[in-house]
Amino acid sequence: KAPSKPLPPWLKVRLTQGKNYLDLKNLMREQTLHTVCEEALCPNIYECWESRTATFLILGDICTRNCGFCAITTGRPTHLDWEEPKRVADTVEHMGLRHVVITSVTRDDVEDGGAAIFAATIEAIRERVPGCSIEVLTPDFMGNWDALQTVVKARPEIFNHNTETVPRLYRHVRPKAQYERTMEFLRRIKDQDPTIVTKSGIMVGLGETREEIHQVFVDMRANHVDVLTVGQYLRPDMKHLPVERYYTPEEFAEIKEEALALGFAHVESGPLVRSSYHAASQVPEVSR
Ligand code: SF4
Ligand code: SF4
Repeated sequence: KAPSKPLPPWLKVRLTQGKNYLDLKNLMREQTLHTVCEEALCPNIYECWESRTATFLILGDICTRNCGFCAITTGRPTHLDWEEPKRVADTVEHMGLRHVVITSVTRDDVEDGGAAIFAATIEAIRERVPGCSIEVLTPDFMGNWDALQTVVKARPEIFNHNTETVPRLYRHVRPKAQYERTMEFLRRIKDQDPTIVTKSGIMVGLGETREEIHQVFVDMRANHVDVLTVGQYLRPDMKHLPVERYYTPEEFAEIKEEALALGFAHVESGPLVRSSYHAASQVPEVSR
C-alpha cells in the first residue's frame, strides 16, 4: 500500500538482507522474542541489524492502546511472561551487544504496567552481560509513580519516554496519553535519580507548526530532558494517519541547531531518526 504523497529521495532506504540480519531474525524466532524494528516496520532495520543493534519489545506484541501513527497490533494482550527477562539477556549475550534498547507495548491491563518486568530485564542483562549499557523506552504507566520508581531503581543508563507530538495533536495522535503526564514522567525520573540520562523524542510531519515544536523543546528542557530525537513520521499503512508534510534534511539540521541552543546534551534530528537510532552514542562517558 502506498503512502498518500510520493516519498522524497532522502527517505528511500536501500533494502539489503545481509547475513547478520538473517541470523538475527532466526534468533528472535527461536527465542520467541519481538523487536520494534520488525513490529513497527522501522526503515532502519537493515542498517541496524547488520550492525547488531536491536530494540527489544517486551510484554508481548499486542498493545492496549491504539495510537494513530503506530503499526503495533491493538487488542487484548497475552499473560505476562516472567521468563522473558532471561531470554532477552540470553539473546543480548549471544549477539554480543554493547548497548541494548528495551521497550514495550503499553499494558494498561496490569496494575504496574509491566514495570516489574522492565526492572527484571535490566537486572538480568546486568548480571549476564555486565559491560552492556541499557536504555529503556517505557510507556507512561498511566501515571503510576510507584511503577516508574521500580524501573528507576533498576538504574538503566538511559531512560527514554517519548513525547511523540505537540500537545494540540495528542487527542488525534496519542488519544490515551496526556502531554502534561508525559512531562511530569520525564521530570520525575531525574528527580528520583539525577545520574540517569533522560531522553525523549517527537515525530514531525503530523501537522504541527515550527512554533509548536519549539515550545515542546522548551517544555522538555524545563523538565530536565538531556537527549532529544526528532524524526519524520512515516505512515505505516492506509489505516494510519496521513503524512501532512515531509521535512527536508536542511529543516532537520535547523531543528537540531535550535534544540542544541536550548541546552540538550545530545540531539539526533533527521528524516530516518527513530528513538533508538544511534542510541549507543548517547551513553554518558562517566562509568557507573
Ligand atoms: Fe530497530 Fe531502533 Fe534501529 Fe529502528 S532505529 S531498526 S527500531 S534499533
Ligand atoms: Fe504503539 Fe505505544 Fe501507542 Fe501502543 S502505546 S499503539 S505501542 S505507540
